[in-house]
Amino acid sequence: MVALVKLAEVTRDGAYLEPQSGALVDTNSDEWEKQLYDLCRLYEIPIQNIAQIILDPKVLPMIRGKAFEYSVADRLRITLPATVWSVSQPRMNAQSGQHDVDLKVVHLPTNRHISIECKMSDKGSFRIGNGKSASARVKCMRSRTLGSAKVIQRSAELGIAENKLSAHSDSYTDSEFDFVASSLSNAFYDTDKTTLNYFWHASAEEQLSISNIAKNHFAEPKQISSEFIFLAKAKDLTPLRSGVPCTRKKCPDKLKCQFIPNFPYVNFQNATYTIQNPWFEVSEIERRFSEFLSL
Ligand SMILES: [Zn+2]
Repeated sequence: MVALVKLAEVTRDGAYLEPQSGALVDTNSDEWEKQLYDLCRLYEIPIQNIAQIILDPKVLPMIRGKAFEYSVADRLRITLPATVWSVSQPRMNAQSGQHDVDLKVVHLPTNRHISIECKMSDKGSFRIGNGKSASARVKCMRSRTLGSAKVIQRSAELGIAENKLSAHSDSYTDSEFDFVASSLSNAFYDTDKTTLNYFWHASAEEQLSISNIAKNHFAEPKQISSEFIFLAKAKDLTPLRSGVPCTRKKCPDKLKCQFIPNFPYVNFQNATYTIQNPWFEVSEIERRFSEFLSL
């Protein structure tokens, strides 16, 4: 935040009138400061208001969702050996109508690809059950519902009947990406009714559950919940594989449905609060990716 204040002062003084020179940007600062400064100039965003702009309830969830993609990418790069796997974040192509891939992982020896969709847990969804169990939900739905024209287009592209697609117009199919990645953090966020700001909150009992789930009793609970990243194969989340019937009224085949539910549950059970299938912890990623690619 110090850096933002410093940049705001520069802005108010009008001291950066040569946008390309960068001469008045602190040369000791990190590159991100200059990038932010240049971006705000390019898109006419008053940098002195950047914090308030990000805090807007219309803006913050989008930025947190995008930020989560970077957190997952960083974690995968730390977890997977770089000589064998590469992790990238392809730029989205809004014009193509194709689902943009959040993360692309390439197994370098075989050049085979894995696509990952990053989805935050559903706000405030963490629950402690009876005995040794807990659960949360992952919010796994399209940000833009498919309209009737898009249904016709996607029906041809995906080879799925139009009536099935229109019955699940805000759902992903099990073939649009290979894995879903999520974390526990957002399941502990709430909205302040007065200020409309998001805030993280967990009761003492919930904090203990977080520590048990992540098997980490040393860091701050918020940090633990944020760093507890888990994944599932997209196909394993569908009613066809999970055996949990589709809840869409117009779904023609509720038990053989191949759409991902909007809010799939992640469950933690038994004395050690172990994460339950089909979800698994990010630490298992190399074995799971190898299995997926039949390596
Ligand atoms: Zn269905």
